[in-house]
Amino acid sequence: MLMDSETRYCPVCRADWQASEIPAKSRQYYAPSATHYSRLISIETRSYDGVSYWQCPDCKATWDRWTSALTARQFHPSKGLT
Ligand SMILES: [Zn+2]
Repeated sequence: MLMDSETRYCPVCRADWQASEIPAKSRQYYAPSATHYSRLISIETRSYDGVSYWQCPDCKATWDRWTSALTARQFHPSKGLT
């Protein structure tokens, strides 16, 4: 399964990642197909300028952005990526 910011449901815990609707005036900043914000957490690392991992805000499952593979790595606000 391909993970990206438009994926709606967590494949691990089935949480709904859809958040509020993106206001019409702000849609120009998002993908043309994007209609709602996402609760999915994007994680950036020092080694790459951009999203490297996605994390479910509910079960904390974390996926590699490039392979969409579930990883054992997890992000903690205080400890960083472990
Ligand atoms: Zn989840």
